[in-house]
Amino acid sequence: DGKWAKAMEILKEFDEKCATPIAKLKQVADAMVVEMHAGLASEGGSKLKMLVSYVDNLPTGDEKGLFYALDLGGTNFRVLRVQLGGTDTGLVSQEFAEVSIPPSLMTGTSDALFDYIAAELAKFVAEEGQEHELPPGKKRELGFTFSFPVLQMSIASGTLVRWTKGFSISDTVGQDVVSELTKAMERQGVGMIVSALVNDTVGTLAGGRYTNKDVVAAVILGTGTNAAYVERAQAIPKWHGALPRSGEMVINMEWGNFRSSHLPLTDYDNSLDAESLNPGEQVFEKVISGMYLGEVVRRVLLRMAEEAAFFGDIVPPKLKIPFILRTPEMSAMHHDTSPDLKVVGNKLKDILEISTTSLKTRRVIVELCNIVATRGARLAAAGILAILKKIGRDTLKDVDTQKTVIAMDGGLYEHYTEYSKCLENTMAELLGDEVSKTIVIEHANDGSGIGAALLAASHSQYL
Ligand code: ADP
Ligand code: MG
Repeated sequence: DGKWAKAMEILKEFDEKCATPIAKLKQVADAMVVEMHAGLASEGGSKLKMLVSYVDNLPTGDEKGLFYALDLGGTNFRVLRVQLGGTDTGLVSQEFAEVSIPPSLMTGTSDALFDYIAAELAKFVAEEGQEHELPPGKKRELGFTFSFPVLQMSIASGTLVRWTKGFSISDTVGQDVVSELTKAMERQGVGMIVSALVNDTVGTLAGGRYTNKDVVAAVILGTGTNAAYVERAQAIPKWHGALPRSGEMVINMEWGNFRSSHLPLTDYDNSLDAESLNPGEQVFEKVISGMYLGEVVRRVLLRMAEEAAFFGDIVPPKLKIPFILRTPEMSAMHHDTSPDLKVVGNKLKDILEISTTSLKTRRVIVELCNIVATRGARLAAAGILAILKKIGRDTLKDVDTQKTVIAMDGGLYEHYTEYSKCLENTMAELLGDEVSKTIVIEHANDGSGIGAALLAASHSQYL
């Protein structure tokens, strides 16, 4: 009938606006390469901050001793303890604890957030056994993975540029996050030294390199998204320090903030952005990462409900609540293989309180999830292509020896199979058969924590 036709028209229009043909992805990649150059040329030269990480040496395998890591970057934070055995021994043991962050702390005060974290750290240390004794006179050393844009002054200090991913605590912005953490640890009575401050992408790159020498970049696809890669120090005009002996420097791209007229953005994306905590920022992140995919689906469904009575004459009230449809639920619906799309039906009932839906309706919802996930995954692939182009690995130099490994982490990549499959297929499409054989995407499960501990080890105060 007329209403169904109207709903299909809304879906079709959305689908067309989300299209990402290969030619468009290449334009996106080229635009990103241009921004990479601009961001490396001067501080503030681009939407891409291209932050200097102060990591000019990646782990070698010789790191040795007991080290800690603290990973703060989204919905949860982790504390980690690793025992590094040194050359030929590697990682001896690791233990971790994971704690979720109460939403109220994400928009409260800096002291409240850091006190909460330091208290959990104190608990973690208090519960450890005798086998973790440190040599007398030495303090515990910590690698702090902090996955928000930070302008670093050194390997162990940096000021917060801005919060992302739903955090909004104004009194932290412009502060040194290491000193915020250190003061909180003092208040909580845990005497630890922060030896390295790293972005999760940099941690993942370090952790990846520890297990595979061919790792040159890391990408995170989780609540948010970001990437880091190994750049030639000579290719960073804004770097005025001494050239590192390695000749290399890890760059934290902060690619979530990328934007370009080539991005296929729709009215739904524009209103999501306008109503977000950080309007105008993190535009790339808002089309590809886990925090937002489900929300885009909700917005399209709401319009179909309002303008085409897609769920009947009444617009389901729950459908009007921002972020009620989370990406894990979207992914569960997208992966529903049951003949009657039972999972889709149940999710609609449980989350949106829509009691009955026809199979036809459920099929449309799966299709909508597919459109949103496909656009995100293909744009993520375009971002990876930009890195490969920047470091000259998008063409073939030596078919026998060239191997380029990208360490990948994040709950979205790990759990949203349709998304990760699409990303990998798109990489192959963009690179062609020959080159794509030399590019490996390696899942680095929680590599960022171990990576931060490794960087704490190689930047130990006691070396
Ligand atoms: P963070 O990015 O918060 O550090 P993770 O890397 O663990 O943490 O990613 C968590 C994110 O991954 C969630 O916010 C969600 O968007 C996404 N995610 C988790 N599980 C799934 C799933 N089953 N399907 C799709 N996305 C998921
Ligand atoms: Mg994370």
